[in-house]
Amino acid sequence: CDSPSAWLLGADRATTSRDNTVHAQHKGSFGDVAIVGGESNDKSHMSGAALLAARAALHGGAGRVYVALLANSTQGIQLDPLQPELMFRSPAKLDIAQQTVVCGCGGGQAVKAHLPRLLSHAARLILDADALNAIATDTALQTLLKERALNTTVLTPHPLEAARLIGCSTAEIQADRLKSAQTLADRFSCVVVLKGSGSVIAAPGQTPHINASGNARLATAGTGDVLAGLVGARLANGLPAFEAACSAVFAHGLAADQWSGNSALTASGLFKVLT
Ligand code: AMP
Ligand code: MG
Repeated sequence: CDSPSAWLLGADRATTSRDNTVHAQHKGSFGDVAIVGGESNDKSHMSGAALLAARAALHGGAGRVYVALLANSTQGIQLDPLQPELMFRSPAKLDIAQQTVVCGCGGGQAVKAHLPRLLSHAARLILDADALNAIATDTALQTLLKERALNTTVLTPHPLEAARLIGCSTAEIQADRLKSAQTLADRFSCVVVLKGSGSVIAAPGQTPHINASGNARLATAGTGDVLAGLVGARLANGLPAFEAACSAVFAHGLAADQWSGNSALTASGLFKVLT
């Protein structure tokens, strides 16, 4: 990636921008994103994380967004009154061979059971949060991850998740963030976004990129879920995985840089300023 420019926002891609002169475009032209996460049980309810990722995918420009909450069957089909565009499905009913799947946001322990199928069959896959934690402790899942087609998978760990995946301390990750991101990308054959101040985007055989946008306003619950949904939208739009990751990370950081509210920025607040 070069310095921030129009392509970082995906603006120069016919496949990613809605264009009034191209009358044949329809919602299928912009791709489907499915969110798998948001565990609910008698101890906790994490559906908010999945809904943030889903709203981000919509705001990021996906044509259709599906949500598969990891709850028991009666709780699983719901509605988001704030975002009626979202369509709710049970995880087993997703058409993942065609979709870009964002997996792990608020996924809890329940996400692990879905990973073998998603790793084997999802057309494009973003793995975040509890999906990464599950993979860190399961060599069979790691093998499935490595076997995925090149440039179809993006991992979005924060430093602790990266440490679990590599098997080292968070301090070691942070001591050389470029090397840590590259190690992960090479080990699992995927694009990696190592999050935090100066997020690093790495891919096998590429020079890693350090993102220049963003600030500590992003250090608040749910912003990582928003980023995962934005990467999903970019991938569904047709951008290659490395560009999709660079573009989404830049736009996410830029939204925080452009926030001018007097109160703290919230993850939902990002939707008001995303460009
Ligand atoms: P997560 O840790 O999964 O909730 O993700 C947090 C998001 O906020 C990531 O996109 C981070 O890169 C971003 N973030 C957190 N703290 C900072 C910071 N101090 N400067 C820039 N971005 C940050
Ligand atoms: Mg997170």
